[in-house]
Amino acid sequence: MEKRLSSDRRYLLERVDDAAVVQLYADGFASLPLREKVLTWHLYLAALAGRDIYYDQRHARALDMRAVLEAIVTHPEGIDGTVLQEVRRYTKLFWINSGPYNNVTARKFVLRVTREDLIEAASVAAGNGARLSLGENDSVERLIDRLAPMFLDPSVDPTVTSKTPGPGRDILKASSNNFYSGVSASQLENYVERYGLNSRLTTDNGRLVEEVYRIGGRYDREIRRIVGHLRDALPFAEPSMGEALRALIRFYETGEDADRVAYDIAWVSDQESQVDTINGFVEVYMDPRGVKGAWEGIVSYVNQAKTRDIQALAANAQWFEDRMPWDQRFRKPDVAGVTARAIEVVVETGDSGPLTAVGINLPNDQAIREKYGSKSVSLTNVSDAYERSTPEAMRVEFSWSREEAERAKKWGGFAQELTTAMHEVIGHGSGRMAPGVTEPPHRLLGEQYSSIEEARADLVALYFLPDAKLVELGIVPGDQRDEIVSTEYEYYVRNALVQLRRVREGTQIEEDHMRNRQMIVNWLRAHTSAVEVRRRDGNTYYVMVDADAFRDGAGRLLAEVQRIKGEGDVAAARSLFETYGVHFDPALRDEIVARVDRLQLPSYTGFVMPRLDARRDSAGVIVDVEISYPCDLETQMLEYSAFARRDDVLEPPSAAR
Ligand SMILES: [Zn+2]
Repeated sequence: MEKRLSSDRRYLLERVDDAAVVQLYADGFASLPLREKVLTWHLYLAALAGRDIYYDQRHARALDMRAVLEAIVTHPEGIDGTVLQEVRRYTKLFWINSGPYNNVTARKFVLRVTREDLIEAASVAAGNGARLSLGENDSVERLIDRLAPMFLDPSVDPTVTSKTPGPGRDILKASSNNFYSGVSASQLENYVERYGLNSRLTTDNGRLVEEVYRIGGRYDREIRRIVGHLRDALPFAEPSMGEALRALIRFYETGEDADRVAYDIAWVSDQESQVDTINGFVEVYMDPRGVKGAWEGIVSYVNQAKTRDIQALAANAQWFEDRMPWDQRFRKPDVAGVTARAIEVVVETGDSGPLTAVGINLPNDQAIREKYGSKSVSLTNVSDAYERSTPEAMRVEFSWSREEAERAKKWGGFAQELTTAMHEVIGHGSGRMAPGVTEPPHRLLGEQYSSIEEARADLVALYFLPDAKLVELGIVPGDQRDEIVSTEYEYYVRNALVQLRRVREGTQIEEDHMRNRQMIVNWLRAHTSAVEVRRRDGNTYYVMVDADAFRDGAGRLLAEVQRIKGEGDVAAARSLFETYGVHFDPALRDEIVARVDRLQLPSYTGFVMPRLDARRDSAGVIVDVEISYPCDLETQMLEYSAFARRDDVLEPPSAAR
């Protein structure tokens, strides 16, 4: 159905250290009706308009740092070649990770030049006409001195999010993100924010103050521009989407939680629109308390063909719920409105790009999920680009047998896409809290919540993957079921080993999805006969040897993980992750790193997004929206930053249309 031009297409664009840069394609966009294209255009501008909010949330100095870097790389004439090359390397990593912290390890990476080199480079760039943001009586030297500790010293603000900083250390003091300023977790023990999701907490004479993200509050400028583009989108939106957009605008205006709730409900109730957007303060992974929302912007449209498959899953959500391997009291009697779609992403910014998830399930508000359901999406063009840019060596190196590597090649893409869909559609949407438990689970479980919830969703998918129901629904071909199950289980087990490459420093895992996957595999190793650790030629392999034992173990672990969530048993959660999910053997990690480095395999991927352009007639009316693919990270990142600096809103005044 889609145009596939894979032969002459570039997916892998470049490597920067252990990051891959890959172009994302959105083939269905060109055939959308004009109204939906124009809608997408305005939402796309709204997504670009908020990007800098996320940089600022990652670190208070991130935008100043980016301005210096971009001044240098755009005005390089006369800068020492070695210094410039290092600045370019660092800047690319900075763009990919939206700031100075590695998104996977949460640790800071540094620029390997001296203070003097940096002052010299910035001065030359300024001489070449670059505009540095200098205050009164300021100098390039003073500017660099303010930023140098962040650029150059690995011990200054070393971690963006530290959920387990070690005994006696405060999770907020140990985390260098900008959700809090001068606030410790102990100060917040009996404090409930009025604007939990959308404020920065600071203190004024020892009194806690919430700086609310809203028009007239923190990020006023960015939010005003977002709202301007959302208003421009309104005339092109379906009625149900229009309602959601109006609710979102209202939330951006007031910042009040009641308006956030109204927006979440309106957004989840919009089931008709082919084009959709997520624009706001959404995921709470970056906050060690799991309360503050990182800003993200996503614009997408539905992939009809792939959506048919996963809607079959959603339509049978109750069937799966009734057979969950957990205690009766955690079963939902009526699974509400779990909708599932395969989407193609047009743009992702902030917390959702250039690094992106492959599946999303929102809203996060548990009360709304229980009452109104949730929307689940698989990002099919992202999965596709991942698959097409993955080097063959990645599968071969960590597979015990040639059969395993061949299965991975043949069924890997299919099995992972299906498991992701199940994770989102019947995983996150499932289960309920124990009777009498009224506190939301993220409050009860604190910093353990995200990992528990991700583990729960993964285990639901792994547990049901072999089920005959999937064959009956026409999702899995019956004669290939065992192969597909083996492929996924083998991949899952292998991944616990392979993912260690992403944690090049330290001996513990911070990222929630990684913790959950490490925990599941290590738990299966300890409690079942599904996984064997083997060695050959000095290399370690995790080998899945018994799919039945794997499924049985996944079911038992799932029952316990659901109990932990449903009762809010934080002690059990902590113990589960401390035992199986957080710590790893650094010698094993070193082996894995050496193997991937020898093969030059990437640890993570940043995506270059498609680019949209509006074509107008002489009266200024948009007559088409064209999509193109820049195939260059630097071009796109500089374009996005330039867009943020504009004082105007890109669009002519609404009256012109
Ligand atoms: Zn998830």
